[in-house]
Amino acid sequence: MIVFPLFAIGVLSFMSDKPFDFRLINGLQGDPAVFVLLKRMGEALLFDLGVIENLGHRDMLRVRHVFVSHAHMDHFVGFDRLLRVNVPHRRQLTLFGPEDFIERVRCKLNSYTWNLIDPDQIRFHVYEVRGDGSVWTASLTNTDKFSAPATRTDLKHHHLVTLRDGSQVAAALMDHKGIPSVSYKLEAPAILKVRTEKLKALQLKAGPWLGDLQYRVRTGQAEGTIEADGRMFPIDELAAEIITQQRGRSLVYLTDLSFSARNLEALRKAFGQASDGISESSFADEDRSRAVDKAHLTSRQSALIARSLGIQHFHVFHVSGIYGQGPQQVAEEARNFFHSLPGPGPELDQEIQIELSRVLS
Ligand SMILES: [Zn+2]
Ligand SMILES: [Zn+2]
Repeated sequence: MIVFPLFAIGVLSFMSDKPFDFRLINGLQGDPAVFVLLKRMGEALLFDLGVIENLGHRDMLRVRHVFVSHAHMDHFVGFDRLLRVNVPHRRQLTLFGPEDFIERVRCKLNSYTWNLIDPDQIRFHVYEVRGDGSVWTASLTNTDKFSAPATRTDLKHHHLVTLRDGSQVAAALMDHKGIPSVSYKLEAPAILKVRTEKLKALQLKAGPWLGDLQYRVRTGQAEGTIEADGRMFPIDELAAEIITQQRGRSLVYLTDLSFSARNLEALRKAFGQASDGISESSFADEDRSRAVDKAHLTSRQSALIARSLGIQHFHVFHVSGIYGQGPQQVAEEARNFFHSLPGPGPELDQEIQIELSRVLS
C-alpha cells in the first residue's frame, strides 16, 4: 500500500485555551470563595464557601462540586445561600472538607424545617478527608432527616474525585493552628482535538481510525504508519496535520495554613508541580510574627510555596483586614517576591530554610 507523506512541519500544535477560568468572588480581602468554571463541560466548582452574595444566580446553579478547606466561619458561612438556591432546583451537590465535615453539613441541614419539600428533594453527597488520608462519605437527604452514617470509601486524599471532563481533584492536609485545613489541586488533563477542516482538505472521512490515531498520540506511539479511511499515512505527520492538543493545566488552592516544614512537605508530596496557584497572602513580610500567631502565610511565604510547586501563574487573596484599604500592597509584595525567587532547586530550598528558621525564632 502507498504511504502518503504529508511533509507536516513540526509536531503536534498546542492551543493556548485554558481548560478552566476562575474568579475570586470577594476579591483580595473578602471571605475566601473561588468560582472555577470548567470550560469543557460548562460546570463549575467552588473552593471554599465564604460569603457568596457576589456570585450570580446563574453561576451558582453551575456549581456541582464544592471543596471546603475548613469550617472557620469565613470559609463556610456561604453554605446557606448555596443550599437555598439549590433546593427548588433539586440539584444534587457534592461537597468535600476536612475531618468532621459530614457532621457539620448534617447539622446545618438539620437546623431548618423541611416539612414542605418532596422526599429526596435535597441530596448532598458529602466527603471528608481524615487525618490518616482516608476519605469518608455520607449521602445526606431530607427523606431520612439527613441521618445516613459516614462510611469509609476506597478513595485516598491524593485522588478525591474525577470530574466528567477528566479533571481530577487531590487534597493535602495542612496544619492550621492545631486544626486540619485542606488544600486542593485541580488537574485538568490535556485533550486532543481533530481539525475537521484539515480532514476535509485531505479528503478523509472520520472513522474508527481517528480514535486509533488519538490513542497512539496520547500514549506516545507516534512512529510507523496508520491506515486512515483506506489510505496509509505516517502517524507523526498525519497527527501533526489534523490533531491539535489543548494543554493540560492544574490549579492549586492554598489557604489557612502555617509555614512549616511539615506543611510544605505534605504539599509537595500530594501535589507535585502545578501550573497555576491561588494562595492566601494574609500578612506582609514584616508582620511575620502575626502570621505565625494566626497560622497564616505572609506574602513571602506564599511566594516560596508557589515557587516550590513550580507554579507559573500566581494569584493571591485572603489578605488580612488589618491592612484596611490597602490589600493591594500586600498582594504586590507577594508578586514581587514570586518574581524574584528562583524555581524549584537547591537555591530555592535554601531560601525556604532561611524562612523556616525565621518562623521558629
Ligand atoms: Zn481564613
Ligand atoms: Zn482559618
